[in-house]
Amino acid sequence: CGVVGVFGHPEAANLTYLGLYALQHRGQESAGIVSADQGQLYTQRGMGRVAEVFGAQELERLPGQQAIGHVRYSTAGGSVLRNTQPIFINYRHGAFAVGHNGNLVNAGALREQLEREGAIFHTDMDTEVIVHLLARVPGQDAGERLAAALAQVSGAYSLVCLTETRLIGVRDPMGFRPLVLGRLIDSGGFVLASETCALDLMGAEFVRDVAPGEMVIISQGGIESRFPFPAVGRRMCVFEYIYFARPDSVLDGVHVYSARKRIGRILARIHPRDADVVVPVPDSGVAAAMGYAEASGLPFELGLIRNHYVGRTFIQPAQRGRDFSVKVKLNAQPEILKGKRVILVDDSIVRGTTSAKIVHLIRAAGAREVHFLVSSPPTIGPCYYGIDTPDRAQLIAAQHSVDEVRKMIGADSLGYLSLDALFEAVGGRALGFCDACFSDDYPLPTPEGHGTRQLF
Ligand code: 5GP
Ligand code: SF4
Ligand code: MG
Repeated sequence: CGVVGVFGHPEAANLTYLGLYALQHRGQESAGIVSADQGQLYTQRGMGRVAEVFGAQELERLPGQQAIGHVRYSTAGGSVLRNTQPIFINYRHGAFAVGHNGNLVNAGALREQLEREGAIFHTDMDTEVIVHLLARVPGQDAGERLAAALAQVSGAYSLVCLTETRLIGVRDPMGFRPLVLGRLIDSGGFVLASETCALDLMGAEFVRDVAPGEMVIISQGGIESRFPFPAVGRRMCVFEYIYFARPDSVLDGVHVYSARKRIGRILARIHPRDADVVVPVPDSGVAAAMGYAEASGLPFELGLIRNHYVGRTFIQPAQRGRDFSVKVKLNAQPEILKGKRVILVDDSIVRGTTSAKIVHLIRAAGAREVHFLVSSPPTIGPCYYGIDTPDRAQLIAAQHSVDEVRKMIGADSLGYLSLDALFEAVGGRALGFCDACFSDDYPLPTPEGHGTRQLF
């Protein structure tokens, strides 16, 4: 998911909309904005992309100088209108709205307990437990109450929250998901956003990352920083750098595009191939393929062209033929590929089904050899912290050796990035990362049980 917050701008909802537009890659299922004006909160939410949910009319219904927004892709709770964010409630201390990126690992147990005590839930989302807890805890101000509520939850959360008078940003103690603070160049107001690419479009300059475990409270009086949780050490999601974040963002000081290019250069070092051309799977493999081409001296070519206008649904003809689902999105160019030994670069192999189809497309376009290089280590475990990976049983690398995967996707060779090489590209292991989906080293307890690799 993606989150945005604005404090102190006459067009707060409009700026939030722009921020969400820039974060659309973080979630396309639903979008929502809540604004605050003269002690009153206003909300507009809907299914679909930002441009589908918000027009001029919807934005006019969101007055005020403060707003938060959310784009969602579901990791907990189904994709239905009821499960859209920000969540907006009224409780004994007033109005409160929250947008959440991440996933809580103890939401199920907390919900069961709260329901036994009489709580009535309105959504299926893990995020809703936060507002139920908020209504029950003591505290002098919204920040103290929020900290007391969050002290009971475990998991990944980058939050933007809105009250009648405050904008609050929080990053969980391990800082799984990113969150940045910016300053609006024209009004001097503040913004919060999942990634720096949103600041650029909102007309804000980067101030700093919100630190893991930090709560920033923004009000008319200015900005206040608190660290309400015991320090545990950063575990930023390394997959943000590989796939999830936009390449033009800088996350915790590391430029994503540069990290992906470094990964490509390292791939060229550890997996050299006798080949004629380096071809990315667009868009996720592009920067790594450029790095590979640069380091190897081989030409970089767009042997696969992506259709950027593929929506969520399209009418499928009855006679679909092989590879139809991937052909809708990607077309191979025989003019580039015929007779060539091709190095194909993609960011990850999850189930292996798409990768197999892509290898087949490249061969059907006349390639002589296909060498598949992956800009991440084998994905061997699901994510419980906010990325939607399938069950372990469906992860091809959790069930099969590298050579078996190679055969299953039909490649002449297959090479993954190593974990060490990955850390070299993102600034060093010592910075503190989560790499659980590649290492099985889960920093927080999971529903599967901690470190379940021996089961397979
Ligand atoms: P597979 O071969 O495993 O079926 O698909 C691999 C492709 O899925 C890669 O191109 C990769 O970019 C993409 N991918 C990796 N992670 C995700 C994700 O979380 N969501 C989506 N939609 N695609 C992903
Ligand atoms: Fe990121 Fe993987 Fe950790 Fe999930 S398990 S937070 S995707 S590194
Ligand atoms: Mg991809």
